[in-house]
Amino acid sequence: TNPVFTGIDTTVFETMSRLAMTHGAVNLGQGFPDVDGPEDILQAAARALLEGPNQYPPMLGVPELRQAVADANNRFYGLDIDPLNEVLVTSGATEALADCILALVSPGDEVVLIEPLYDCYLPLVKRAGGVPVRVRVTPPDWNLDRQALRNAFSDKTKAILLNNPMNPTAKVFTEDELQFIADLCLRHDAYAICDEVYEHLVFDGKAHRPLMVLEGMRERTVRIGSAGKTFSLTGWKVGYVTGPASLLDPIAKAHQWVTFTTPPALQKAVAFGLRKDDGYYHGLARDLMAKRDRMAQGLSALGFAVLPCAATYFLTCGIEGLGLGRTDIEACETLVRQAGVAAVPVSAFYGSDAPTGYIRFCFCKREQVIDEALARLSAFL
Ligand code: PMP
Ligand code: GLN
Repeated sequence: TNPVFTGIDTTVFETMSRLAMTHGAVNLGQGFPDVDGPEDILQAAARALLEGPNQYPPMLGVPELRQAVADANNRFYGLDIDPLNEVLVTSGATEALADCILALVSPGDEVVLIEPLYDCYLPLVKRAGGVPVRVRVTPPDWNLDRQALRNAFSDKTKAILLNNPMNPTAKVFTEDELQFIADLCLRHDAYAICDEVYEHLVFDGKAHRPLMVLEGMRERTVRIGSAGKTFSLTGWKVGYVTGPASLLDPIAKAHQWVTFTTPPALQKAVAFGLRKDDGYYHGLARDLMAKRDRMAQGLSALGFAVLPCAATYFLTCGIEGLGLGRTDIEACETLVRQAGVAAVPVSAFYGSDAPTGYIRFCFCKREQVIDEALARLSAFL
């Protein structure tokens, strides 16, 4: 028999969640809130489930969700999106990423990726036959090396895959950096695939700015969002892609062979959620910011070198001098087995030659859970 392809590893999130379970650890590894999102959205889903129909919805998504996604793009970013031809609903941002890469990347095409990168990017690009070209943002301040980014673009560049706000660095790209990226895309006639699942989890009173709004980018950018993040319902796996019809059309064709659709009751409830008032969106960011601060203060007091966090669910920290092990992987093993706290090694977000002195903690947890984790770390260190 043919050998089974072994180039696909188990994701670090699953590995760490399993370890956390085995060791009864507080799980600050995989990124998910420990309180479900708004009751009224859950009720909208329950109603839609009972009322039905529970049959295949339209391939592009139920009309009310496509309209709600288009309206949200206008409300938050002033983007004018045609709900009929420029929105696709997917089973999570993960499926959206797969669809975009399958549709836009052909064998031999170069795809620019910024490390540290979300863990499905590299395997997806490689499986599509694409050639990943990696550049870095570097700790502790996660600045973008512009010269390296300029050098990464060539006449073979098909696209850049940009995660903004960025996991695991919690970085928000500056206006200058976005303009620099946009200029490179325009100069090299490249697409931008923008993973913006953390668009509403931006802190300190700031607002997200999509690359798509920059001059000349509307026609070459696809923007990916996730109801999992926006409504603290990560298990629902409802995502959406917004982009010009010329790109949405092939992406929808990829989608038809991947999942074809997403459960209709969840789509309808997400449409309801997207129409929630500004108070909801501000409250989401405000609550998460308080958790960020609680966790950052506690970790700093214990000697972790906590890096700045402008967005997302995550804090990254330097571990030097804490005696947790020689590498971030050893440190995470020590912490999950001996301290009873699961984190994620930041080196898992690199293709090779990763820095090994940083780990990531997820802070979207109840206060008592954050405090319990800090108490366990304190007792161990
Ligand atoms: N992109 C990034 C950067 C993520 O952190 C995640 C996971 N939370 C996803 C995509 C996947 O989102 P979803 O759960 O909607 O598939
Ligand atoms: N995005 C989540 C994280 O970074 C994980 C999602 C998953 O497990 N696939 O922790």
